[in-house]
This record gives sequence, C-alpha cells and structure tokens, in this order.
Amino acid sequence: MTRRIVIAGNWKMNKTVPEAVELAKAVVAQAAEAPASVDLVVCPTFVCLTEVAKVVAGTRVALGAQDLHWEESGAFTGKISASMLVSAGVKYVIIGHSEQRQFFGETDETVNKKTKQALKHGLLPIVCIGELLSEREAGQTDAVNERQLKGAYAGISAEDAAKTVIAYEPVWAIGTGKVATVEQAQDAQAFIRKVLVELYGSEVAEIIPIQYGGSMKPDNAKGLLAQKDIDGGLIGGAALKAGDFLGIAAGAA
Ligand code: PEP
Repeated sequence: MTRRIVIAGNWKMNKTVPEAVELAKAVVAQAAEAPASVDLVVCPTFVCLTEVAKVVAGTRVALGAQDLHWEESGAFTGKISASMLVSAGVKYVIIGHSEQRQFFGETDETVNKKTKQALKHGLLPIVCIGELLSEREAGQTDAVNERQLKGAYAGISAEDAAKTVIAYEPVWAIGTGKVATVEQAQDAQAFIRKVLVELYGSEVAEIIPIQYGGSMKPDNAKGLLAQKDIDGGLIGGAALKAGDFLGIAAGAA
C-alpha cells in the first residue's frame, strides 16, 4: 500500500458562513489542478460545516473539523461530539493543534482521548505534534515529538493507527512566515517515522502520512513535499485563498 499525500486547509477562526461557502466553492472549482495522488481537505469552523459539506459533496474535496470532544454527549457546554461531526458529513478531524495546546489546555492525554473517540466513530484524525522554539533551541525537538506522539497514540492499535494522519508542526513556524528548512522538516519527520516503526512496525509506519505544517506557501511547498518523509501539508494562512491552497497541492506533483 502506498502512502497518501494529504493537503489539508485549517481555516482556524476565519470566515463567516457565506465566506466559507465562497471559499469552498473556489477550492472545488480549482481542485482539478491538484495531482490525482493528493487528498484535499478543507477544515472550516464548526458553524460552517454543514454548508461547506453541501459544496464539497460528490467532489474530490473532503471535509474536516478543527477539534472534537472525547465524550459521546452530555453536559459539556460549547463542545462538539464525534457523532455530530459524522452527521455533518465530516471525514477528517484535526486534533492537538498547537493553538489548542497553548491557549486552551490541550494535553497529550486529551489528544489521546480525542484520537480514540474520533477513530471509534470512523473519523480520520490529523494528529498535530511539534516543538516550541525554546525546545528546539534546547536540543529537545526529537524528545518533544516522541513524547507527544507516544502520548497521542497510547492504547491505539496498529490497525487504527494506520487510519490516522500526523501533522508535524514546529510551533515557531506556525503563522510566523518562518518556514522550517527542508532539512529541519525532513529530519524531524524521519525521526517521527522511526518512532512509529518502534510503536507499530515498519509496514504501518510506512503508510501513515506525515504532513508538514508551518508557513507553507506555494513557493516553498515543492521543496518540502519532495522530501521522503513529508507526505502533505497542514496549511493555515495560505489555505484562506483557493489559489494558494491549490498552488501548494500542485507542489506535490
Ligand atoms: C496551522 O495552523 O496549522 C498552520 C500551519 O498555520 P500557517 O500555515 O499559517 O503557519
């Protein structure tokens, strides 16, 4: 089985419902420009999911959400469950984004619970990991990624792990315009794959796509995507313009 290339747009807290529909339509209209080997995903806010679902239905663009809660239902004001996402037409879900970790108390433990819950409901998790600048400067990049990865996948079977996508996102490169060099990204991602081999064996480790995320743009995507262990991208800012998003996907050719 060959590894998929997954290019996912994380729209974060941007776009009203009409704006999200407009952007989704533009992505769908230009999706043919992406190489056939690429899976395209758009991740709008929760409130836009059902309308964007209508736009992408029957196209090659899949729908993703930006988070979920690990409980089935109940008194969890403001939270969204896995079954709600499934009912809205969602296929992928971003889990453990660094903004959730930094600002909203996400931990390796909650990432693990959310990943298990997503898998239980047939959602495909995009599990985000990555080091802070201070951790990189202290020579802890690999140790941080190993800890976050092992935390996220604790108790998850090889069969389930094979359904996930990992997003390696060095926190210092997110939204800063400061992209990791191809060597920095490839080195970190090769190490992440090594940890996956340790956890699940090489067959499973070889099929899990590892995305790079952090200031990816059409002009730097090609070099990154040419690396052996970079299997797509999680795109923030550049995903808000259909042309830039598809320009990044074109870099996977
Ligand atoms: C992200 O938030 O996942 C991200 C990679 O953002 P940006 O592309 O804007 O750096």
